[in-house]
Amino acid sequence: MITNPATAAWRRQLSEAIQRPAQLLERLQLPPSLLPDAMAADKLFRLRVPEAFVRRMRVGDPDDPLLRQVLPLGAELRRVPGFDEDPLQETVRGGTPGVIEKYHGRSLLITTGACAVNCRYCFRRHFPYHQERGEDGRWSAALRHLAADETVSEVILSGGDPLVLDDGRLAELADRLQNIPHLKRLRIHTRLPVVIPDRVDDALQRWIAESRLKTVMVLHANHPNELDTEVQGAAERLLAAGATLLNQSVLLAGVNDDAGTLSALSERLFDAGVLPYYLHLLDPVSGAAHFDVSEHRARRLVAEMAARLPGYLTPKLVREEPGEPSKTLIAPDSQESEEFGQNAAVTGIF
Ligand SMILES: *Cc1c(COP(=O)(O)O)cnc(C)c1O
Ligand code: SF4
Repeated sequence: MITNPATAAWRRQLSEAIQRPAQLLERLQLPPSLLPDAMAADKLFRLRVPEAFVRRMRVGDPDDPLLRQVLPLGAELRRVPGFDEDPLQETVRGGTPGVIEKYHGRSLLITTGACAVNCRYCFRRHFPYHQERGEDGRWSAALRHLAADETVSEVILSGGDPLVLDDGRLAELADRLQNIPHLKRLRIHTRLPVVIPDRVDDALQRWIAESRLKTVMVLHANHPNELDTEVQGAAERLLAAGATLLNQSVLLAGVNDDAGTLSALSERLFDAGVLPYYLHLLDPVSGAAHFDVSEHRARRLVAEMAARLPGYLTPKLVREEPGEPSKTLIAPDSQESEEFGQNAAVTGIF
């Protein structure tokens, strides 16, 4: 192996991420009057954003849609009924530590609690991760569990962000997974190729390309401004390694809650070789209520998208509900689309 994690360009960018509110405000020439609230909210959930992502923000604009995703705000301190610390009730499960099995055939592995960026709306903002790194001991238990359950055909690496881990460790994990005969797919849920496009380097490409498992990478971008030419390059390298690329977004007030922005996001994702997969309704996590978009408005937004985009560029609007056999599909559905009359003619084709 020629990987030297200590000197990998992405590793340096990760460790040099902005972590102080004052530093971010200064970097973007924003008024210091934003600082006291930012400091207060930072105490609840730490600011963290790499320069590669900050570079895509507009200087001097406190409402920039990328900035809104990462800047701690006073609104986070408000207690709002219905917004809780653990909305998905993920901390009350039993079972193998580090493994979440909610849906048939798919097993989700929590690889690490660390992320490249701390997103203010994250449902894991209060998640009780006890360590930053997945430990081998825990992975061994998870791998034994997977090997024993032949109903599982897909392993989902999640976190935190699994691509925060070094490629040496990931390659080893991927290797141990591909030795489990009933596994077919390796899915990776990550924001890193968007946040630090340099993360997609030779070492990452290599273990993905070498795996027997089909690799599906689910990226996470919420706004078209996140997808610049560097991200496009990262997507190209992932495609070259043989990965299938999908994207999931979260519907966020003041970030992407209009049909034009969401449609532009879909178009730009496709330009980069990525298909829109899910648009999530916000999980009601405390501190994120100011991002909430009502289900009614969300349905209308997706119906509007469906009326102007090809079907494969309209993401599925979903909500996560504890105890359901799959994510709950909210839209597109036939009823809502009827409101956009021009669609009615299309049904005649079938
Ligand atoms: C979302 C999720 C999955 C994947 O569901 P898909 O609908 O296949 O994308 C699997 N496990 C858990 C725990 C999840 O939250
Ligand atoms: S888990 Fe995903 S959404 Fe949450 S902070 Fe990390 S990168 Fe952001």
